[in-house]
Amino acid sequence: MDCIFCQIVAGEVPSQILYQDEELIAFPDIKPLTPTHVLIIPKKHIPSLLHLSEADLPVIGHMVNIANQLAKSEGISQSGYRLVLNCGNDAGQIVPHIHMHLLGGRRLLDVFD
Ligand code: 5GP
Ligand code: ZN
Repeated sequence: MDCIFCQIVAGEVPSQILYQDEELIAFPDIKPLTPTHVLIIPKKHIPSLLHLSEADLPVIGHMVNIANQLAKSEGISQSGYRLVLNCGNDAGQIVPHIHMHLLGGRRLLDVFD
């Protein structure tokens, strides 16, 4: 398996695990765009939102719940944060394994200006 996120799940590529359970792991983005930039991913290899089956849908709610908890533990829940799921080229999806970005710690503008 040459998926970098599957390698992180397997412990073959080191990462600082901020949260882990039977379904998900969360770790800091290697190239943070914001003071807090955490990735929340399912352990199961799902290439993108387009590949989500109905049976996989609950994992997305689980990811949101853990992202909310991490926003609190990282101290950005009151200042505000953004959860992002990129799908495909135009969205800038680089890693073909579903991941949720938790972004915060500074004012976020760009596409929502
Ligand atoms: P995308 O653009 O696909 O939505 O986001 C992929 C993210 O994964 C990028 O923000 C990138 O910095 C991050 N990333 C890519 N490779 C690694 C890695 O090996 N370790 C970690 N922690 N993050 C990575
Ligand atoms: Zn994968």
